[in-house]
Amino acid sequence: MTFRTVLVANRGEIALRVIRACRSLGLRSIVVHSAADAGAAYLALADEALCIGPGPAAASYLDPGLILLAANATGAEAIHPGYGFLSENAGFAEAVERAGLVFIGPTAPVIRMMGDKIEAKAAMRRSGVPCVPGSEGALPEDHAACAAIAEATGYPLIVKAAGGGGGRGMRVVREPAALREAIKMTREEARRAFGNPELYLEKFLEHPRHIEIQVLCDQHGAALWLGERDCSLQRRHQKVVEEAPAPGLPRAEIAALGERCAAACRAIGYRGAGTFEFLYEDGLFAFIEMNTRIQVEHPVTEAITGIDILREQIRVAMGERLAFDQDDIAIQGHALECRINAEDAFSGLPSPGRVTEWHAPGGPGIRVDSHMAPGSEVPPHYDSLIAKVIAHGKDREESLRRMSTALNEIRIEGVATNIGLHRLILDDPDFRRGKTTIHHLERRLAHRLTTEEGA
Ligand code: ADP
Repeated sequence: MTFRTVLVANRGEIALRVIRACRSLGLRSIVVHSAADAGAAYLALADEALCIGPGPAAASYLDPGLILLAANATGAEAIHPGYGFLSENAGFAEAVERAGLVFIGPTAPVIRMMGDKIEAKAAMRRSGVPCVPGSEGALPEDHAACAAIAEATGYPLIVKAAGGGGGRGMRVVREPAALREAIKMTREEARRAFGNPELYLEKFLEHPRHIEIQVLCDQHGAALWLGERDCSLQRRHQKVVEEAPAPGLPRAEIAALGERCAAACRAIGYRGAGTFEFLYEDGLFAFIEMNTRIQVEHPVTEAITGIDILREQIRVAMGERLAFDQDDIAIQGHALECRINAEDAFSGLPSPGRVTEWHAPGGPGIRVDSHMAPGSEVPPHYDSLIAKVIAHGKDREESLRRMSTALNEIRIEGVATNIGLHRLILDDPDFRRGKTTIHHLERRLAHRLTTEEGA
């Protein structure tokens, strides 16, 4: 179904990114916002901005009724959910379509299936995508049965919530004696945070890399993969730096994995943009989850493929065909992304407030996705991401060099930022060599604390 007007049901840099994509397609954009974002500069770039509620997300960005009301009031025909908030809420996608509007994303049943990580893993196993070993389905209530599953999986293991996300709802268990308590705590957390007490367990991998495959599918059966990203630099299971392509991976194996992901998309009737996440250890890939939305780190893939993923995502939602096929996708150079957060660089403590000074870096190969301007407020209610700096170069060396120059140039005053952490990462010899594991950054930071560096 074609449409002329898109309601942007998100905030900050991703709302701005969607507004820009709409403009490039000649579409009208209407952005909703909370009272806490009322003064934000990016709102002026949309064709219309509408305040839908107070600062707390539950009373604004997370309220499906308010967003549908705004769509109705403004005559929007489609809704782009961005990432986070309602982007992976199957009930919301359903309500949007019931209201006769287009949800820019996959169908509600596909979102529902992939949102339940137990079901997602089962679907992937059926499509021949390799998964992390662990329980086949949900953990039973009976502790002895759980202990037997844990024994069969082997320690250390990780207990995870079926409905988990954002790095929450998981717990590492190193020995049998700790299993009962870990299950109890994770179940309580899952019930409270995700409204779904179901748990599963997986082998805890000690030295994996996080590798993910970007896919893009239209509604005419085309399913393509746009290369991979390496998102191993993480803190508290949250990505800090991402890059593409992943350094030193066997290209033939990546291509085989990409083809499997594309085939899985055809099998489940996937549409739009999505990401398959894998852990890679000892030469093996193992699926952990699929994100049925645009991701924060999509720009590194845009840089190396030259494809505007947001624009394509909106085009395929209109029912248009992808304008290229798998053979047209060529990887050019290397790209890195640093997530700039308003938080203390090393403690990670959020630092909301007013940005008094803002100077964005530039130059060859530098892209900055940010909704900041001098005087911008960083409200305390939301995620602390304030900018993404993306550096593209002919190879990894050049993108690293460009990123270093950019990080030296960026000026942000008024709130604390994690730029100091990014500088430490860029100077880290292990990171510069590539191939660091998902545990590397935490260990590096722990080392910093026990040496003079941290003093
Ligand atoms: P979320 O939906 O919260 O992002 P994921 O399942 O994608 O949860 O896991 C997030 C991160 O947690 C991974 O990138 C990885 O760092 C870590 N992790 C998840 N599963 C495992 C595992 N089986 N072994 C080791 N680390 C894991």
